Amino acid sequence: MVGAIRQARVARLYGRRDLRMEVTEVAEPGEGEVLLKTATGGICGSDLHYYQDGGFGPVRVREPIIPGHEAAGRVAALGAGVSGLMIGELVAVNPSQPCGTCRYCQEGLTIHCLNMQFMGSAMRLPHTQGMFRDWLIVPARQCFAAGILVSAGEAACAEPLAVCLHAVAQAGDLTGKQVLVTGAGPIGALVVAAARHAGAEAIVVTDLADAALGRASAMGATRVVNVGREPAGLAEYEIDKGQFDVVFECSAAEPALRGAIAAVRPRGLIVQVGVTGDITVPLNALVGKELRWIGSQRFHDEFAQAVALISDRTIDVRPIISHAFPIDQAVHAFEQAGDRTAACKVQLTFLSWF
Ligand code: ZN
Repeated sequence: MVGAIRQARVARLYGRRDLRMEVTEVAEPGEGEVLLKTATGGICGSDLHYYQDGGFGPVRVREPIIPGHEAAGRVAALGAGVSGLMIGELVAVNPSQPCGTCRYCQEGLTIHCLNMQFMGSAMRLPHTQGMFRDWLIVPARQCFAAGILVSAGEAACAEPLAVCLHAVAQAGDLTGKQVLVTGAGPIGALVVAAARHAGAEAIVVTDLADAALGRASAMGATRVVNVGREPAGLAEYEIDKGQFDVVFECSAAEPALRGAIAAVRPRGLIVQVGVTGDITVPLNALVGKELRWIGSQRFHDEFAQAVALISDRTIDVRPIISHAFPIDQAVHAFEQAGDRTAACKVQLTFLSWF
């Protein structure tokens, strides 16, 4: 075991725009657990909502929480009974901890676990603490080796890529399909990469920010449309009741959903990935075109797949990583992440130990 007590800096959120740097002591990894030296942690939209608004929808920060559910680190110590991981190895951390015994886990629907402990989530009380800290102890089964080719920053993109692989899997075979992606933030951009990997023939992407659309192009979009500058930019796809086979709605903006419903073909599929509160929907078009509109959240087996695709750069995630700040500049990093004109994936970096 590792012996000396380590001290860890943690970024802890106490409420809206109240993120504090604190120091805590680090325990030893227990049986089946691994001690990781955190290397990189990405700021997700939900982290940003916790910071900017104190939560989103019904999910509120009700007690101090360490945010962060997208991280990669290096194995520093193994608890009893852990094998298959090497000291110093770079791993991506799967933040999802389903119970394995509830009715949905038993049905294989672990995403819908009744007792889900998703790291860095304020959904449950007590909140499940997250990964924005120097040292991290997690069960070994949550650690996925990321190889020696890629950076920790790339490995930390496994979580959002897993979200996108899961969303794309909802659409079935995309080979030769015409795809629309609305919203080109980190998730939209990674959906583009996942859809391209799944064989989509054409991938049109809409957003209001040119920087975001540039990243979508780098990730494999065949055409990008700035619907802020060009509000009728999708009109040509509305002919004959719509042209797209599949839409991935990643913006959670009502106009984008309306545009998607107008441009998707009869019996087409809209996969809703973006999240917001209540919006209004043109039910007449949904019914008249016999559309399918389904939600997609999180992932399960796709996490391992995401790490594998990143680790050999089959999917190169580097274009989406826009900023990196040391953990002690976490407040600045969160402020930067809120600027959509410039930021895509903003990551926190931690002192290297090896
Ligand atoms: Zn369960």
